[in-house]
Formats: sequence, C-alpha cells, structure tokens
Amino acid sequence: MASTAATSFSLLPTSSRRRSLTAAPPLSGAAALRSPLRRLGFAGAAADPLLVAHVAAKIRSVAGRSGRGSRGVASMAKKSVGDLTAADLKGKKVFVRADLNVPLDENRNITDDTRIRAAVPTIKYLISNGAKVILSSHLGRPKGVTPKFSLSPIVPRLSELLGIKVEKADDCIGPEVENLVNALPEGGVLLLENVRFYKEEEKNDPEFAKKLAALADLYVNDAFGTAHRAHASTEGVTKFLKPSVAGFLLQKELDYLVGAVSTPKRPFAAIVGGSKVSSKIGVIESLLEKCDILLLGGGMIFTFYKAQGFSVGSSLVEDDKLELASLLLAKAKTKGVSLLLPTDVVIADKFAADAESKVVPASEIPDGWMGLDIGPDSVKTFSDALDTTKTVIWNGPMGVFEFDKFAVGTESIAKKLAELSGKGVTTIIGGGDSVAAVEKVGVADAMSHISTGGGASLELLEGKELPGVVALDEAVAVAV
Ligand code: AMP
Repeated sequence: MASTAATSFSLLPTSSRRRSLTAAPPLSGAAALRSPLRRLGFAGAAADPLLVAHVAAKIRSVAGRSGRGSRGVASMAKKSVGDLTAADLKGKKVFVRADLNVPLDENRNITDDTRIRAAVPTIKYLISNGAKVILSSHLGRPKGVTPKFSLSPIVPRLSELLGIKVEKADDCIGPEVENLVNALPEGGVLLLENVRFYKEEEKNDPEFAKKLAALADLYVNDAFGTAHRAHASTEGVTKFLKPSVAGFLLQKELDYLVGAVSTPKRPFAAIVGGSKVSSKIGVIESLLEKCDILLLGGGMIFTFYKAQGFSVGSSLVEDDKLELASLLLAKAKTKGVSLLLPTDVVIADKFAADAESKVVPASEIPDGWMGLDIGPDSVKTFSDALDTTKTVIWNGPMGVFEFDKFAVGTESIAKKLAELSGKGVTTIIGGGDSVAAVEKVGVADAMSHISTGGGASLELLEGKELPGVVALDEAVAVAV
C-alpha cells in the first residue's frame, strides 16, 4: 500500500521517498477502543492532552453540522430577489430569513457585525422598492424562550446600517406580531424575535411554518449560514409563500461556491486543511473531480504521511483513515490532479503556544514531537503552484493558527491569495477557520469571495444540495 501511494505525491525530497519506515504496530481492537487518545485519532499514547481537547472540540463542531447523507450533486440556479421589480414588491409583505446570528460579549454588545452587514443589500433593495420587510433570524442555540438569545441587541446596528428605525417584535408569531406587521409602512422593517425560541423551528413543523408564512405575501431566503438546515423558516415556509427567492447574499455564495467551482477558470487549485481528514473526505473527493492542483495542509497531513510509512511522532493521526488516505492519493493520480503534501513541517514538543519548535522534513518527525504547521519549504512550493492558477478555493488552516508560533503557514497562504487576487485570480475562502485566518491577517477585503457559512459552505463544496436552497423557485432561463 505504502509503496504505490508514495509515488503519487511528488514533493517529498528524494531522501524522504527513499526512506521506508514501518508504521507502529496497530493496537488490538479492544485496546484501541479502550484508548481515548486512539478514539480521537492520535498517533500514540504520547499524545498531548491539550491537543486531544482542542481536536475533540473541533470534532464536536463538525459532527454538529453534518450528519446527513449525500443529497446528490448541486444544481442551484434559483430565482433571485433581483428578479423582482418594484411592481412585484411595492406594498408587499416580504418574509426575509436572514442569518443575524452574530457573536455578542457578556454585556450583549456585538463583537463582529459581518453577518448584519451581509444582510443589508437584500433588505435595502426590498425597502427601496416599497416592500414591507418582516425580518427573521435565529441567534445562538436557545432552549425555549431565553432572554440572553433575544435579537434586541441587533436593532441599533441594523437601523444604523439601513438608515431607518427598525421595529422589533417580542415574538415571531401571534396576534401581537400580526398587529405590528399590519402597522408596517411601505419601506419599513420589522425584526421578529429569535425564531428558535420555538422548538418547532428546528423540527420544521408545518403548522409553525404556516403561522410564519401567514405574516407575509412572499419569501426571500438570505440566510446562507443556515441554508443546509431544513427548518421552518428556511424550508417549511416555502410551501406556503410564492414566489420564494434567493437573497443577494445567498445568490453570491451559490455563484462562487457552486458556479465558480463547477466551471472554474483554469488552472484551478483547491487548498484543503483543518484538523482531520475524516471531516474533509467529502470536500476532498468532490474537489478531486474538479481541480487541477490539490494542496493539503493542517492536521490531516499526518494521516497521509503515516499511510506512506513515515513516522509522525505524536501528531494528529486517524489510524482508521490510513487506507482512505492512500486511496485519495491514488485517485488524484488517476484523475491527473497534482496533489501536493507539505515537504517540511513545524513540530512542537507539546500542544501549547509556548512550545519548543523546529522545522523538520515531513518524513522525519521524531518521537514525542507533533507537527503543528507546514514549514517554509512547503510555503514556497505551495506558493509556486498557486502562481500558476486562475481560480483558488481554500478551506481549512494549514496549522494551529490560533497559536502565533504555528500560524506562519496559514498566514503566508492568506497573503499569497491576497496577492493573487490583485492579479485577477478568483480567490474563494470557503468558510470556517480559513475565514478567521484571512481576517486575522487583514486581507479579507482582497479576496473575491469569503463565505459567511461554515457548515453550509462545507456541504456545498462536498457537492450536496442545501434544503433551504432546493426549496426556492427555479430561475427562469433567459435566452442569450
Ligand atoms: P477544521 O474545522 O477541520 O477546518 O479545523 C480547523 C482546526 O484545525 C483549527 O482549529 C486548527 O488549530 C486545527 N489544526 C490545523 N493544523 C493542525 C495540526 N497540525 N494539528 C492539530 N490541529 C490542527
């Protein structure tokens, strides 16, 4: 297994390729199950407990956002709010599902208003065309009515951005809300209370969806971050409201994450990083069908190295994915995709911001050390490969970028993409931690597109259809 796969990635130095290392003997089934470190996918019993905790948190967040089977390849040409004219909108009550789930501090001040700003173009378009906007969102994960998850803190910033006084309801259905809707002037905006205060929302309860829909004449979904969920306000309401169309934000996400990725300007490179290969299998497999170059980084590379027979010290490894790693390498070869793994890594003696660190060839990680970033050689090789491209999509950091010492690889890639954007390359940041990375480096504005959805963008990149998008009206084909 190791010998065939070893030839399928070309960047390891010759000395590394020559080395034929024997993987540590696997634990017996029972022992493997007993070991929590093994269950979390660590290479050896020496795994650092802090690294274990860090990755366990990541696994929980990934598990929380997927869990459904593949729904087939995306085909998402949807009718857009931009297709609706003043004649369609004037005086009409429009139910807009947005994603206003912004982070708040302990005093309930907004710490990042990106999602509110992202919702503004659609709302402005609607109010400038005389519509009455009934705005709905969730915030956090409330269990029933939970005051700390009220949408009230959103109102001042939203009013400021829209340049009008946004009204706020204390509920999202019921007679009081109906009265407020009836009092809404043309061009007015009423923000409904957190729709997840009702458990029926996430259950996609048809009666609840019907009550939400009864408030309005037509529907706009602009909540990309929740479009992968079939909830009452993202999917259920479409059964009762026509037309049901995509907002500008949702449309832009689809244009880039489906459009630009399906019909890219070539050469097309995908950069996939993050913690574990298991959470990115779907993305890698789907992108292998479309891209010319695939660059891998992050914690997942150690599973690929181990599959090649290299020693990986106490780096993150998923022992049950070794065969899969070899298969992916082989698949890249069959498809003619240049799959590049880092040639060198920055290793640490513990999982900590102040760990001892050094750079070693990827095949020479000593026992007791773990790889936490890609090394300078790899950054150079990746950058050279990226220089040849016209479209790049990036999902997942190259290392533990939360620690400055291990953020260099991720930040260098972010800067490289910003530079390429300036040269006309289409650069797409496909959600999650890579977004945080480009923001940390201050190059977010340079990118062609930064996805606002974590789980939703991951599912789109996996080629899945999103229920909140599928439910919308099809775009009308225009002859050209
Ligand atoms: P994901 O959510 O799968 O994109 O993973 C993002 C996480 O991967 C970040 O929190 C990084 O700290 C983590 N990560 C990146 N490289 C490594 C690595 N070499 N070892 C452990 N975790 C890593």
